[in-house]
Amino acid sequence: MANFATHVAVAGMAATGIASGIAVTGMLSWSDSLILGVFLIAGTLLPDIDVDGGRPQRWLFSLLALGAAVVAASVVLQLQTGPRIFLPGQALSCEAVAAGFLAWLLVRYPCSLLFQKISRHRGLCHSLVVGGLWALGWVYMGLHCLATEPLLVWLQGTALFLGFLIHLVLDEIYSVDINNARIKRSFGSALKIWEPDFPAGSLLAVAVLGGLMWLLPFPHELFQWLRSGMALLG
Ligand SMILES: [Zn+2]
Repeated sequence: MANFATHVAVAGMAATGIASGIAVTGMLSWSDSLILGVFLIAGTLLPDIDVDGGRPQRWLFSLLALGAAVVAASVVLQLQTGPRIFLPGQALSCEAVAAGFLAWLLVRYPCSLLFQKISRHRGLCHSLVVGGLWALGWVYMGLHCLATEPLLVWLQGTALFLGFLIHLVLDEIYSVDINNARIKRSFGSALKIWEPDFPAGSLLAVAVLGGLMWLLPFPHELFQWLRSGMALLG
């Protein structure tokens, strides 16, 4: 399998090429194109979150813990009527800080350890169906919770999936020993639709993916954008 540095280097090249191509043709602004590049690189890190103690896993759980802390603190602040501490641009309370810290601690350690216990490297997390879940999960969250244009949210989900796919393909390429024209034992374990050794989890992932597809609106704006891109190319 390809190592962390190879994955980041290949995704970095793809992200730079795609983002600058989009920006130069004026299909998106430079800042939006660069953000797409960041999503593509993030997507390339996601399949290896099942490597225990690896960088992708640590970064993901730190990010999730931060998100959980912000959500917990805001919920407590909204419910609370007691005294608050006012900082520049921000109102806080001791209870909100405590709830935020507790949520951070819970996600960063017990949840991360539980994930390490139940996941296996190159298991379900390293499959296309989970790549689809990350992409559509982001689109669902973005359309409901972010004040970002729907087109950008769809493009970010697509970049996330593309990065994920590049990772799986690269791992598969690395399982072929080109010099000795020999196929390593890991061949076929990287690029898979789901995890045959974990049918219950795979079925659940497919069911959630189907649910997301059903809930999400048809991406008219994405297809429109792609069509105008095609027209520009010729
Ligand atoms: Zn991998």
